[in-house]
Amino acid sequence: MAAYTGTGDADSTGEEPDGTPEELGGDQGPAVNGGPRRDEAVRAAVEQGLVGPATPIIGLLDITGIRASAAALRAAFDVVTAPGTPVLHAFAVKATPLVPVLRLLHREGIGAEVASPGELALARAAGVPPARTVLDSPAKTPAELREALALGIAVNADNPQELARLDALVRSASTRSPIGIRVNPQVGGGSIGALSTATATSKFGVALRDEGAREWVVRAYLDRPWLTRLHAHSGSQGMPLELMARAVAETYGLAEEINERAGRRQIDTLDIGGGLPVNFGSDAHTPTYEEYARLLAATVPGLFDGRYGLVTEFGRSLLAKHGVVLARVEYAKSAGGRAIAVTHAGVQVAARTVYAPKSWPLRVAAYDTKGRPKAGPDVVQDVAGPACFAGDLLAEGRLMPLLEQGDYAAALDTGAYYFAHHYAYNSLARPGIYGFGPDGAGGVRFAVVRTPQTVDEIVAESGGSHAESLTGTF
Ligand SMILES: *Cc1c(COP(=O)(O)O)cnc(C)c1O
Repeated sequence: MAAYTGTGDADSTGEEPDGTPEELGGDQGPAVNGGPRRDEAVRAAVEQGLVGPATPIIGLLDITGIRASAAALRAAFDVVTAPGTPVLHAFAVKATPLVPVLRLLHREGIGAEVASPGELALARAAGVPPARTVLDSPAKTPAELREALALGIAVNADNPQELARLDALVRSASTRSPIGIRVNPQVGGGSIGALSTATATSKFGVALRDEGAREWVVRAYLDRPWLTRLHAHSGSQGMPLELMARAVAETYGLAEEINERAGRRQIDTLDIGGGLPVNFGSDAHTPTYEEYARLLAATVPGLFDGRYGLVTEFGRSLLAKHGVVLARVEYAKSAGGRAIAVTHAGVQVAARTVYAPKSWPLRVAAYDTKGRPKAGPDVVQDVAGPACFAGDLLAEGRLMPLLEQGDYAAALDTGAYYFAHHYAYNSLARPGIYGFGPDGAGGVRFAVVRTPQTVDEIVAESGGSHAESLTGTF
């Protein structure tokens, strides 16, 4: 195990379990405990020169772990659904918008949930077929809707105005797209306000408990025989499982009511969204898909009896624990008695953690100059990023083995919503991202997922070809 330090944050969902590394994977088996594989990959990345003085930051993705999580998701729902029930697990592309990752997940039986033209293009580039793609977003343009319907991609309408656009499109052209409405069951928020989508005033979906809203939704279905799905996604990190299950129960209850009033099974598929929280406090995968599926089966048994097809939209829980940002310690210094490691991982790869450290604490593992887990007494230190503002800290006052010049700091659990979500502060380059897996001879092999951004690309993307546009035109 790496000499990482837990975040020690009271918000962490999991306790650090005792036990052997094998047991740390929880119910999902040893393949999902990435600790030992991560240590091997870090060492190999340093040995093979993937990271070093000239390339001081990279992102790494654990292919074995991603596969294991995909398998765990499928197995968890297989156990609770009636045989023959159509189930589509659509990965929320926003969590890790990388084409090779979407392709890997597609190969593992996971589709794509997209929420922008860019995400749709990524899913298509990865070969995810329209029948395994779902389009949700609160601000779809007419052109996006037209394209989705032409392709036959499932669409969830966010609001009455979007439904009116769909009315016109459905009238003018035939489509294979399954279409539904997104509702907000308004069951309440979790511990992170910015990620809670089922609050009373959330911007997403039709707010079910508002006056007249439920009846409006029912009528919308009765008036439109082509509406066959119902969708809710009640939040992400920070939502208690019980609250998520309650939101699913509310959605199911509404579908039952609509089908009863329609006198037929008009709604044939429920899209229950994603949102399984991730434990950022240790290598344990808690809560598990299995726990959530069992809780859903106990709370909403009718959901799984075969009358409804299912769509899920998990993002963070599939990828977070399989990614690492590995950054070289450029300098080690001290100020006011505080040890500070100045690394190349900061706000550009971990914007949420840097701007909202209480909500998004990350574990940081210390590795030595050869990429070996660092031993030694714990020292209180800051792990700083390269950006020019004082708050650019990956970790503040963290107790861990002292990082020295040439060592490596690894930000763990960063496979979702981190290194693929580059923030261009200080024109810092997007790091290269590499998948890793066994090379068949006891070592580690890497595969390019995304090449590092070059300085020329930064110039081009920053108006480089328009250098004279302001001075020459006016
Ligand atoms: C963000 C999002 C998801 C995925 O949420 P996770 O917390 O990453 O599982 C699923 N569905 C919708 C509509 C989303 O906006």
